[in-house]
Amino acid sequence: SAPLEARGLVKTYGDQGVATRALAGVDLVVAPGESVAIMGPSGSGKTTLLHVLAGVLAPTSGSVLWRGQDLTTLPDRARTQLRRSDFGFVFQAGQLLPELPADENAALPLLLAGTPRPTAIDTSRRWLAHLGLAGMERRRPGELSGGQAQRVAIARALVGRPGVVFADEPTGALDRHTGWEVMQALTTATRAQGASLVVVTHDEEVAHWCSRTVHMRDGLIVAEAHAQPVAPAA
Ligand code: ADP
Ligand code: ADP
Repeated sequence: SAPLEARGLVKTYGDQGVATRALAGVDLVVAPGESVAIMGPSGSGKTTLLHVLAGVLAPTSGSVLWRGQDLTTLPDRARTQLRRSDFGFVFQAGQLLPELPADENAALPLLLAGTPRPTAIDTSRRWLAHLGLAGMERRRPGELSGGQAQRVAIARALVGRPGVVFADEPTGALDRHTGWEVMQALTTATRAQGASLVVVTHDEEVAHWCSRTVHMRDGLIVAEAHAQPVAPAA
């Protein structure tokens, strides 16, 4: 495995007259298996950074390196392909298809990748069980609580064995206690799978579950904190 590495990211929205500089030169290295919380005031560039790191938004300048490739210079098709095979996504809410039961929702990335249906459903059900949803496999999103629906979304982000999971305010629609449980599930499951996690959040308690927190302001990373002491070099 390799780090996810951003170098000199600048993102400007709009044209000269009304341009907004959302990223003003961001460098960030996310080590394999590391979980990074991105915090900061509204408008500081958190979502923009997440989208650029995940290859869904092109920066104005700078690069994003992943497994030896620069996402920003890859052709669209190759970047989409890489995103599907290597990245998982969790959003705030409303990301599940309402007409599909939990097991089919969580299996979607595998089904889209051409995995035979029985294998895809089987893998999906194992992840659901692992996330505490045994017995709920056939429930539709409307029959699940907010926290349960987010666990289905976490299962869906992980079924394809991604190298990195990107999450944008994954607890934003949940009460405090449920959000805490969902973050524990997200960080634990991601770590168990050996993937890195990049999570945008307003919530200090969410950041508590991550190995590192970076604080943004005006499009820049202005502070960083490690949750755990860094192991001394051998
Ligand atoms: P955060 O996630 O920290 O709230 P964002 O990345 O959403 O910050 O936004 C950073 C800045 O860029 C804000 O000033 C926001 O209004 C602006 N911005 C974000 N997306 C767009 C867009 N699609 N078009 C124009 N301005 C945008
Ligand atoms: P967040 O709460 O995560 O910062 P927002 O609700 O600000 O997200 O933005 C949601 C979406 O709208 C994002 O994809 C962002 O790029 C876009 N967006 C944010 N600000 C603007 C803006 N000023 N103009 C156009 N699009 C925007």
